[in-house]
Amino acid sequence: MRIMVVGGAGYIGSHMVLALVETGHDVLVLDDLSKGHADAVQGVPLVKGNIADSTLLDDLFGRMNFDGVMHFASFIQVAESILEPAPYYENNLVNTIILLNAMVRHKIKKLVFSSSAAVYGEPQVIPITEDHPKNPVNPYGKGKWMVEQILQDYERAYDLKSISLRYFNAAGADPLGRAGERHLPETHLIPLLLKAAAGKADPVTIFGTDYDTADGSCIRDYIHVTDLCVAHLLAFQALMSGAPSSAYNLGNGHGFSVWEVLEAVKRVTGKPVPFQIVARRAGDPSHLVADATRAQVELGWQPHYPALDSIISHAWNFACMQQ
Ligand code: UDP
Repeated sequence: MRIMVVGGAGYIGSHMVLALVETGHDVLVLDDLSKGHADAVQGVPLVKGNIADSTLLDDLFGRMNFDGVMHFASFIQVAESILEPAPYYENNLVNTIILLNAMVRHKIKKLVFSSSAAVYGEPQVIPITEDHPKNPVNPYGKGKWMVEQILQDYERAYDLKSISLRYFNAAGADPLGRAGERHLPETHLIPLLLKAAAGKADPVTIFGTDYDTADGSCIRDYIHVTDLCVAHLLAFQALMSGAPSSAYNLGNGHGFSVWEVLEAVKRVTGKPVPFQIVARRAGDPSHLVADATRAQVELGWQPHYPALDSIISHAWNFACMQQ
């Protein structure tokens, strides 16, 4: 299959390219390199451009026969989306519509879309199933949910079939060290803890220890980036086999508190991790844990690296290789 990976120079996109190439697909990456890294795209063509450029999309879709698109080109910082909603709605919502419209014009009818657990907001029940009410509490999550709803309308009107994958906390790195997480600036817990363990960053700020959880810190479901990518492959195969549009949670179904993650980083790295406790960060739900049964049953997905220590150890290997 020929697949356009939009945002393929970013963290999850670059792992996706590795998985697609390994399974024999023909890949083209479209990425404006505003967040991604050109050197993260290896062995496949990279076109530098933005999905807002419909002339570029028309050219690429017109010249090459794409079977589908995987869309990873999002801004991802929840706290930033509260302070600066405009670029979030512009990039994650408006530009996605421009991409969808180009797909419709060129009759490209399969899309795997990077959605998020942020569509649910503060959970009413844990673990969260896909049918949980959608009450996103920040512009990042609202934009993801709006796109999911637009995709339902586009299927009805234009027969564009899509699978939205609602990631819980993507983490880790390629087990062979070929790719990893290089966000600038880095805001995610595990890479920040690893930087602090390596002595390359200020103490990690722990955002709130007064949550209604056993140890007072927030609980998240960390999912290995390679497992996420396998789910995308399965989702794409399902669409190609005629599966209907759907949405799936991707998580391990186990929650770890911030303190537990910090302890795991100390265990894996064998180093102390300096930290300081600060106030809660805006927009952070206390618990987010996935029920990913639907992806397991309908897509046949099984995480290969569910252990937190494996996730952290792959991320640590990659971080050490960057020095
Ligand atoms: N977190 C933290 N300090 C940091 C970054 C994150 O305490 O410097 C906490 C954050 O409040 C959340 C968890 O770690 O409870 C995971 O945050 P991250 O930003 O990695 O992912 P998110 O859950 O926001 O998608």
